[in-house]
Amino acid sequence: MITTNTPAMTPHLTTLYDSEVFRMACRQYDLAANVIHVPIELHDRTKFPKRCLTVTFPVKFDSGEVIMFEGYRVQHHLSMGPTKGGVRFHPGVTIGEVAALAMWMSWKCALVGLPYGGAKGGVAVDPAKLSAAEMENLSRRYMQEMIPFVGPNIDVMAPDMGTNEQVMAWMMDTYSIQVGNSVPAIVTGKPLAVGGSEGRREATGRGVAYLVCRQLEDLGISFSDTTVAIQGFGNVGSEAALALAGYGARIIAISDITGGWHNPRGLDLDSALAHVRVHRTLAGWAGGDPITNEALLELACTVLVPAALERVITPANAARLRCRILAEAANGPTTNEADLVLAGRGDIEVIPDILCNSGGVIVSYFEWVQDLQSLFWTRDEVLAKLYAILDRARLAVESQRRKFGVSRRLAALTLGIGRVVEAKQSRGLFP
Ligand code: NAD
Repeated sequence: MITTNTPAMTPHLTTLYDSEVFRMACRQYDLAANVIHVPIELHDRTKFPKRCLTVTFPVKFDSGEVIMFEGYRVQHHLSMGPTKGGVRFHPGVTIGEVAALAMWMSWKCALVGLPYGGAKGGVAVDPAKLSAAEMENLSRRYMQEMIPFVGPNIDVMAPDMGTNEQVMAWMMDTYSIQVGNSVPAIVTGKPLAVGGSEGRREATGRGVAYLVCRQLEDLGISFSDTTVAIQGFGNVGSEAALALAGYGARIIAISDITGGWHNPRGLDLDSALAHVRVHRTLAGWAGGDPITNEALLELACTVLVPAALERVITPANAARLRCRILAEAANGPTTNEADLVLAGRGDIEVIPDILCNSGGVIVSYFEWVQDLQSLFWTRDEVLAKLYAILDRARLAVESQRRKFGVSRRLAALTLGIGRVVEAKQSRGLFP
């Protein structure tokens, strides 16, 4: 049970988003705010989301049936620029989850020095059950409903779980048709042909791998001695796997929503990717021994990479993890209580989510800047700038950790939250 000294001054503010994952994000905030003594009058203003939009909308299915969906967008704060964040299509999406993800985006953007507040959007839908036409109808209609709430200088969307480059292209097209000219800066993570950036598709996974690389160096572990287990084999998980394998690590387990595969001698990633391209999931791949998602987390390995959902590292399995590094590619994979267990153990280096997966929003920021200027960079320029920002953020986190004697997660959160507080203090009451 986590208690803090700074309960909400206005507890009723939490009811709209109330959910396990939102409470988890709030508890993280409270702990960090305590460390840096966020002034009491700024406490709730910094913590709670500024505004949200909920929409219901019809989508026509291939069968002719019209089905109603609910969609959300939460903009966490407006104090440092437009808001920025992904759109998630997943059956478990709720407004509480979207609000928590928007909060984490705020701290992440501030931590790595981007001029954004955090946002997130989502629709409760299983994209695996939609045809391409149904996916297009859903994506376009969601963006259509969001038009009064977003804009290239207001709120910029990006891919998250269940959405991809193609979805971003449909959303960009829907917005552009509405305003009458091409507006590539309305979304990031687009295909190159419509204003996407070199390096964006692999940015999150590559960023994860780069930070793991730096952490292994600190621990004096070579890549030839490194084994990796990855939960989630979508954009982030598969790109992290490829990048880590490129550095020389052995990927011994991967999984997706259908289950996982384990081979201590190393998995054939090209074959797994080819299977997913055709069948959409790893089901039926048989590239190793089957393993459940739960068992994968407890495999003996050097690096464990949760790259799917929130709250998969719990107090129950935290005590049983057998990794040296926990690289949080997913947002919010570790519960507050599991954090306490890991801190008690002291033998696992956690690269916290808001640092670990920040490569995605960093290159999204590059894409937005390139779109606004209509001036595009090479892949080498993008990656060099990405690694420079990750190095700066990593060193800042290590120094904050030493300064306050806190975990790497709290160090990262305090840096992000502190910068948002500073912006609010500088601007005054309005934003
Ligand atoms: P994705 O949709 O491309 O892939 C998600 C993967 O997780 C799929 O393999 C899916 O089958 C699997 N999955 C879904 N539910 C699961 C479950 N219950 N158990 C096990 N696996 C499950 O999504 P993504 O873009 O790779 O996002 C993955 C995570 O990374 C999310 O937490 C997301 O918020 C985070 N993230 C993504 C980006 C980005 O640029 N896409 C950036 C930062 C953080």
